[in-house]
Amino acid sequence: MKKVVKFGGSSLASAEQFKKVGNIIRADESRKYVVPSAPGKRFSDDTKVTDMLYGCYAVAEMGKDFSKELKGIKARYEEIIKGLNLKLSLDEEFKTIEKNFKEKAGKDYAASRGEYLNGIIMANYLGYNFIDSAEVIFFDAEGNFDAEKTNKVLKERLQRENRAVIPGFYGSNPDGTVRTFSRGGSDVTGSIVAKAGKVDLYENWTDVSGFLVADPRIIDNPKVITMITYKELRELSYMGATVLHEDAIFPVRQAGIPINIRNTNAPEDAGTMIVKSTCHTPEYVITGIAGTKGFVAVNIEKDMMNSEIGFGRKVLEIFEKNGISFEHMPSGIDTMTIFVEQKDFEGKEQQIIAGIEREVEPDSIELESELALIAVVGRGMKATRGTAGKIFSALANAKVNVKMIDQGSSELNIIIGVSSCDFETAIKAIYDVFVQE
Ligand code: ASP
Repeated sequence: MKKVVKFGGSSLASAEQFKKVGNIIRADESRKYVVPSAPGKRFSDDTKVTDMLYGCYAVAEMGKDFSKELKGIKARYEEIIKGLNLKLSLDEEFKTIEKNFKEKAGKDYAASRGEYLNGIIMANYLGYNFIDSAEVIFFDAEGNFDAEKTNKVLKERLQRENRAVIPGFYGSNPDGTVRTFSRGGSDVTGSIVAKAGKVDLYENWTDVSGFLVADPRIIDNPKVITMITYKELRELSYMGATVLHEDAIFPVRQAGIPINIRNTNAPEDAGTMIVKSTCHTPEYVITGIAGTKGFVAVNIEKDMMNSEIGFGRKVLEIFEKNGISFEHMPSGIDTMTIFVEQKDFEGKEQQIIAGIEREVEPDSIELESELALIAVVGRGMKATRGTAGKIFSALANAKVNVKMIDQGSSELNIIIGVSSCDFETAIKAIYDVFVQE
């Protein structure tokens, strides 16, 4: 059994947190590959080292003196080294960083030092080998992750290493310069290492005990999802639920490696397992609820629309030409509605309306703004009768008016459109009817 363990910034923010991480790793022989983030926040208004690095580099880029900023960063690492009683000096590393900042090595290089240095400390603390991610994770000339080259090189390297620390968040360009993934990208590194190292499990350690059935800002103490499929997770993340970087799913999903979200501050909690498929019966009919506000519905009406070939295409083409992606498109016989994001649509509203008038000559176009979409997701829905009925009677009892209903053909989700002002009430009503009983 082999595992990759990735630790997020809050799990590595101080020596105290490092000690918890050390205990977790030492408690299980199979935790062979460790992917650390940069030190995160120690308290709520603290600054993440990644943000300190971006700030410091911005000063360097302007040609100004950045010694104060760099000192602040060095102090964060020294505090950890001291707290762990390590005989390790980062003086030489910081000299190199200072020199490279002066030579304007780039914003990505700057940000990547957060995980690079944390990786050196982690390897020293655990007695594991350190692998610089710039040597094993690659981007192509367009700046896209080069999966093929990475997998080949990293696989060979990991075959030679029984235990290693591979810092998260960065790799290198074809010219050898450093490039980072987008923010939160250490999750992606964990997934890449899991695939190349052919591990059995990718443990992603963070500061929550897994995915929650609903947003804790809306529901008090929501239940943790014990098991979720990649498909369900995709539906929920799309609708705004976040814990894991979106791109972290693909490498492990392809390789069929499960991800286990765990809590560094509560290692006894089982967390959430993310799997490709499962026969594990879900605890509740629904796996999770997520949603977002800020949509507009463009309602188009025209007599005999249904028999007018090409009507839908012409309408969608107008959105396409204006660079607007549509979210949902429920339709009636002589009506069609396009749901779009309000922030994208607002600036182009009049062009789009004029375009629709010109191309399809509708009887009317009405706009309805301040809408929210809610996704009720669950693999259990397929096998259960009456799920939709239960949702809608719960919403009716809570006096929420449903503006739109869309059930995906996979029967994995039901999407409901409501007024933004009913958003929280609707989520509470749905949660209560499935989970609280
Ligand atoms: N340290 C980087 C960030 O703050 C990457 C990560 O933590 O995953 O975004």
